[in-house]
Amino acid sequence: MRDVPSNPRTLRRVLLAWGRLHGRQGIPWTLRLDGSRPEGGEPLCAYRVWIAEVMLQQTQLRVVRPYWHRWMEVFPSVEVLATADEQQVLLNWQGLGFYRRARRLHQGAHQLLGPAGAGTDPFPSTLEGWLALPGIGRSTAGSILSSAFDLPYPILDGNVQRVLARLTGCRQPPKRERAAFWRLSESLLDPRRPRAFNQALMDLGATVCTPRNPRCGECPWRPHCAAYAAGNPAAYPVKDASQPLPIQVIGVGVVLDGGGRVLIDQRLPEGLLGGLWEFPGGKQEPEEPIEATIRRELREELAIEVEVGEELIVLEHSYSHKRLRFRVHLCRWLAGVPQPLASQQVRWVEPNALSEHPFPAANTRIIAALHAWLGGLDNPGHGGQELPSA
Ligand code: SF4
Repeated sequence: MRDVPSNPRTLRRVLLAWGRLHGRQGIPWTLRLDGSRPEGGEPLCAYRVWIAEVMLQQTQLRVVRPYWHRWMEVFPSVEVLATADEQQVLLNWQGLGFYRRARRLHQGAHQLLGPAGAGTDPFPSTLEGWLALPGIGRSTAGSILSSAFDLPYPILDGNVQRVLARLTGCRQPPKRERAAFWRLSESLLDPRRPRAFNQALMDLGATVCTPRNPRCGECPWRPHCAAYAAGNPAAYPVKDASQPLPIQVIGVGVVLDGGGRVLIDQRLPEGLLGGLWEFPGGKQEPEEPIEATIRRELREELAIEVEVGEELIVLEHSYSHKRLRFRVHLCRWLAGVPQPLASQQVRWVEPNALSEHPFPAANTRIIAALHAWLGGLDNPGHGGQELPSA
């Protein structure tokens, strides 16, 4: 990576001035409880900042805001969060995705209130203290420490990385230059106003130096920016040549009994989606018809026999390393008492009670499709098929 061609003091001064005038205002966890701005060095509520920073890890601010407000009403303190039931925690996260973050917040609340934190302010003011909590990496820890305590720790989230890659005109994909990016973020940080500086840097990345069509005309760093000088800022950060993601097809059964109840199971606690509820199913084998996949998976995982009926919905979901295609069919339960052979528990529920169970994001579209199909049964003009009978 090239050096920044300008004095860090100049870059700090113009960014701080820009942040005061044009930075995002009114972000609740960056303010005192009465909504006023904190004085320099004044600590803010670390619990509110911690929850917000974890929510923001893979989600934009406008999406996080309503979730954060609701979370603060339901779990107003780390003590309330620690005593909450995990299902309640997951339900309040539903829709934000990456549920592992919610479980880690819950675990973190237990850890903070454990023997070491009992009787004292449980929130650490050191990098090591925050890194010891589940799901907290260096950038999140730096963001919490600078925002909550106004301490001089650098940050390097995706937005900041993009700004720095453009500022320097870095010719390598940033993940190959992580150490150099950290050094740069650290060298630019204003040690006297770390809270205001990091916030302005994040605001610049989120509102001006955006992934597509950066608004360089409004940018305080334009006179110092290598990518702008090169005439193609959107070409940065440089990317690795990407490979197409492999697709895995998943056969899913929405199994109905004769009374119109639907069968769901709760995933084992481990893994990305551990503890969430889902419609049962599994991977399609090579050359296997999807109906056979669903029958086989339900036999192996629940010890039941089903008749596979019409297709309800097909949907795709992309992860960083693969794409999943869910082929979802309505099924009629034929025989066998459902058993949790590969899950924590199984449950027959009324369709209207599905919303009381936390599901992965992909499953919410299956639920919507099921309700639409059931609505069609109530409306003869819809042409829906009759509910299967046991
Ligand atoms: S001048 Fe443009 S590319 Fe450079 S930092 Fe500013 S917004 Fe980003």
